Amino acid sequence: EDQVRAEMVDELAQKHFPLCMRNLHQNLKKDHHLKHFERLTYGLFLKVLGLSVEEAIIFWRKSFVGSHVKDDKFNKEYKYNIRHSYGLEGRRANYPAKSCQQLLMAESSSYGCPYRNFSPENLQSALLSAYSSQGLTSSDLPEIMQTVSARHYHVACTRVFETTHAKSGVKRGEGVGAGESVTHPNQYATKSMEMEK
Ligand code: SF4
Repeated sequence: EDQVRAEMVDELAQKHFPLCMRNLHQNLKKDHHLKHFERLTYGLFLKVLGLSVEEAIIFWRKSFVGSHVKDDKFNKEYKYNIRHSYGLEGRRANYPAKSCQQLLMAESSSYGCPYRNFSPENLQSALLSAYSSQGLTSSDLPEIMQTVSARHYHVACTRVFETTHAKSGVKRGEGVGAGESVTHPNQYATKSMEMEK
């Protein structure tokens, strides 16, 4: 894995993250905070993306500036949780990042799959605000929304990947490679980052 540094996350999010992780990133920027499960979900995603534990501590500390979390509380509680998710505290387990299947089961609109949990209006505006700089237009939305109403959420996410990577030569039906559809947020982001190289 390439080293991802704390200061790179914002740009990586704009360019390479699927909507679920874009949403967590935006909420963190807006609120300077995320609740426990959101933090866990986003933190494990960033870990697998290549953010080291030292960089994760820098990233979260910076992100919380402006919130009620002061240095003392951060050092006592949050740092432990970050280290724990890297397997450095407690039972030292190597926690994997959550897959689409796990996120699709989470019925929370704050950390589950937005294709499933957002209202059609919110989903469409979230898609345009996240991806119009990468070539997604409102004329792409009807087909995506049809896939969503047929409950093929990961197919909708795959279609968004194809549309936003058309400039890099991704064709319709190719998915994240060899016709594969999106099954994991890290697969989406890693593939997108590889294509930029
Ligand atoms: Fe995230 Fe997977 Fe939903 Fe795409 S299909 S938004 S990667 S949970």
